[in-house]
Amino acid sequence: MKEAVTARRVPTPERPPEQRLRDFDEVNLGYTFELAVEEAKRCLQCPVEEAPCAKACPVHIKIPLFIEKLRRYSDARTAVKEALRVIWRDNLLPAITGRVCPQELLCEAACAKGRVGEPINIGKLERFVADYAREHGIDDELLEEQLPRVEAKRGRVAVIGAGPSSLTCASELAKIGYKVTIFEALHKPGGVLLFGVPEFRLPKKVLEKEVERLKRLGVEFKLNCIVGKTITLDEIRREYDAVFIATGAGTPKLLNIPGILLNDVYSANEFLTRVNLMKAHKFPEYDTPVRVGRKVIVIGAGNTAMDAARTARRLGAEVIIAYRRGREDVTARAEEVRHALEEGVRFMFFVTPIEILGDERGNVRAVKFMKMKPLEERNRESKRKIMPTGETVVVEADTVIIAIGLVPNKLIWENVPELEVTSEGTLKVDGDLMTSIPGVFAGGDIVRGEATVIEGMGDGRKAAKAIHQYIQRSKHQQAILKV
Ligand code: SF4
Ligand code: SF4
Repeated sequence: MKEAVTARRVPTPERPPEQRLRDFDEVNLGYTFELAVEEAKRCLQCPVEEAPCAKACPVHIKIPLFIEKLRRYSDARTAVKEALRVIWRDNLLPAITGRVCPQELLCEAACAKGRVGEPINIGKLERFVADYAREHGIDDELLEEQLPRVEAKRGRVAVIGAGPSSLTCASELAKIGYKVTIFEALHKPGGVLLFGVPEFRLPKKVLEKEVERLKRLGVEFKLNCIVGKTITLDEIRREYDAVFIATGAGTPKLLNIPGILLNDVYSANEFLTRVNLMKAHKFPEYDTPVRVGRKVIVIGAGNTAMDAARTARRLGAEVIIAYRRGREDVTARAEEVRHALEEGVRFMFFVTPIEILGDERGNVRAVKFMKMKPLEERNRESKRKIMPTGETVVVEADTVIIAIGLVPNKLIWENVPELEVTSEGTLKVDGDLMTSIPGVFAGGDIVRGEATVIEGMGDGRKAAKAIHQYIQRSKHQQAILKV
């Protein structure tokens, strides 16, 4: 009986769909201390060095160890502080990763408990630790203990972009005594976490607190600064000992079909930026509007498509997600798909858009799709191959949102011929994430194409280590030359 009970994970409370459609507040309410301890007690406590969960985590958080702290101390403050101390050794942004990591494909997919029941809810435990610490000032207390006591004079590092990869790299370097400056094109730091992920998935106050922590570590932010326009890469290189480029992938892929230029065809990137960053849903209180019709079609089935669809639902539209493959090949996180369905988003599978139809005023009125047929064969990503059936279907819509992916912005390397670029339009790097220019490193989407937040953060950590070695090696060589 006991086994049957512990085989199932302790659920986290969520707000009901009718309520969440009326606002942009967070959907999942997270664990209380009591629930977190109950979930922590399900963990099998695999030996830390061999724990499959930690091996599968891109930044290798010592998961059994932080879970053990939650089990060991009955006092919530002590338990959380000790658990946070363990997490911070490998990840300074747990409130973010606990929310946006695809845990079901990473740590939780590998969890040994998953063989005898549901895997441990690692992401939600991580989020609990971070949230409880933030809400009770425990993170400030721990940071105070850990602030570098030495002046930041090991070297100067420039970080270009202020997304998850950059924030991680900057924090790792600041912690060991580097003076780090982050150059960001937008007026606020956060990158994709700021403009891409909606408030109902990642409240902006969580992000702001993480940025605040970096400032306390001595990291300087130069905002509204576009590298390639406001300042060149060469100018930055002259001032800094090393550079880390992590400007992400911010240029949307669009469809090459008739009607793409009609009014109210958005890229998901533009649509989400208008709402998340410019607060378009609060127009005229904020001055950037967003026009969303009654019927919205979102094309694509990744997390961005779910975010766009669920945002459009909150703006009052009926929403259909159209995807050329089937349900089994949807790339969005299972939790996001479930939330979208609960909130009334409908799905159309095995359809690919071939034309967006407009009215006499140039506004969208419908989308014409080709019906697709699944084949037995699978592609390199293990997705079912598909082929057109020749049969079409027209679906009424007054807004179309294209969410089929992003590619890196070329601005950074356009005037820097020494920076080598791959045929996929990403920056070429070696095993240490160094580009073709010595001392210039890169990571995240600008190297990987499209990656997850945690993969970008993993690159940030790896680059910080390589940058540290590079600077210390260069300084050592200079010292030898002087002798
Ligand atoms: Fe799991 Fe992501 Fe946390 Fe790693 S960072 S433990 S993969 S949720
Ligand atoms: Fe606990 Fe699962 Fe990690 Fe084992 S693999 S330590 S059961 S979370």
